[in-house]
Amino acid sequence: MAKSKENRIVVTLACTVCKSRNYTTSKNKKNNPERMELRKYCNTCREPALHRETK
Ligand SMILES: [Zn+2]
Repeated sequence: MAKSKENRIVVTLACTVCKSRNYTTSKNKKNNPERMELRKYCNTCREPALHRETK
């Protein structure tokens, strides 16, 4: 039987420039307790922008 992965959660990444929620990803809550920040392409800004974890 598979163990439940309680520490694995889904997070939404929003563009810090236009606030669009462009990406969802999963992270390990135990390994990454801080808010994730990733530089990704934003379709609204039409350029790479910093995306931050939201709830
Ligand atoms: Zn944007």
